Amino acid sequence: MKSPQLAVILFLLITFSACKSVVQWEGQGPIQLIETVDRPISIQKKQSWDVGNGIFLSNQFDGARLNEAERVNDTLVRVILLPENEPINPSPWYAFKLWSNHSQDFWIEFNYAGKGFHRYYPKISLDGERFENADSSRFFQPFHEKGRPEKAFLKVSASRDTLWIAAQDLVGTHHAEVWKNELLRHPFVSKSKIGESAQGRSLEMLKIGEADDSKMVMAISMQHPPEIPGYLALKGFVETICGDTRLAKKFRQKYNTYVLPMMNPDGVANGHWRHNAGGIDTNRDWVNLNQPETKALTDFMKNKVEETGGKFYFAADFHATWEDIFYTMNEDLQGNSPGLVPKVIKASSKKIKGYHPNIRPGEGNQRGVTSSSYFFFEHGAESMTFEVGDNTPRPLIRKKGELTAQMLMKFLLKED
Ligand SMILES: [Zn+2]
Repeated sequence: MKSPQLAVILFLLITFSACKSVVQWEGQGPIQLIETVDRPISIQKKQSWDVGNGIFLSNQFDGARLNEAERVNDTLVRVILLPENEPINPSPWYAFKLWSNHSQDFWIEFNYAGKGFHRYYPKISLDGERFENADSSRFFQPFHEKGRPEKAFLKVSASRDTLWIAAQDLVGTHHAEVWKNELLRHPFVSKSKIGESAQGRSLEMLKIGEADDSKMVMAISMQHPPEIPGYLALKGFVETICGDTRLAKKFRQKYNTYVLPMMNPDGVANGHWRHNAGGIDTNRDWVNLNQPETKALTDFMKNKVEETGGKFYFAADFHATWEDIFYTMNEDLQGNSPGLVPKVIKASSKKIKGYHPNIRPGEGNQRGVTSSSYFFFEHGAESMTFEVGDNTPRPLIRKKGELTAQMLMKFLLKED
């Protein structure tokens, strides 16, 4: 090939790859900002209710949500469940406990006072730790043409032993504490406080790995308190990175993984439907940074990069919704490890028989107000919002978290 032709081809190649590999802030359209300054919330009064006939209910525990309780008649107790403020997304969380001074069966009416509809299938526990789906023959939701019943009814067998009823397998802030302490037994795991919520709860970051911070990964969950299935996926993900496998050991030598499992501890502790103590959806605050939680994490990442010169290569924010979905970046945009996210999702999904992932790449090249957009546009981290279905079987949730971690480690190490 003659050299002028070679020069033209080289020029085109360099220009093309420069365009593809660098995300230009100037090239993006305007950000659609959403107001995220504090809005008032109504505080749930912590109390017990003596509703008569020997029946008691209570919201006096971490993560509880029960705003009012009343006995309608001998066979029906109504519980009123309200959001922390409005407008709010439809994720009507509830969690309460009950007991009776003599054994009796009665129905509970879940009533949202017109502020929401029944969404979460009730889970029951005898110890407040292990929850199981309620017996379907004892659960009833009246037909509603929109498929969203305003009420639901559950028959319970009450006795002196406390019965716990919750919208998901309850995870209060103390559950996350117990889990973090288990992880801290590994010599390669440490934790640090990166900030405080409005109500003074610690925002604690786990660090997993023995690398030098030149290559980093970020994972967060529980921005939205009821989205516990997302937290369960995060657990599978993180425990795999902490694993005793050759892959995980090698990965920890090259990459440090930072994990903030409880992004909204005030919302979780108070049994909020979605918001933090500032009455704000924190996953709309990643440009404004008005809220202490988003401010703390973005400061942490910015300082980390400034201090170490390292980069975040991957970031995932774990949530839950009606079904399993991966919200990813527009695949034409390339960050620090182009193509990583689709590769990880496809390879991990292939390992689950008959499973076809629901991938929703963003359109256009605009930055949004969510965490994954922040991770990508500010740090070049290949990012995704990992949404698990409300009712996805728990072993499958865990498997998905584990496989995602395995494939992530494999692909990131391959690039070294
Ligand atoms: Zn969410």
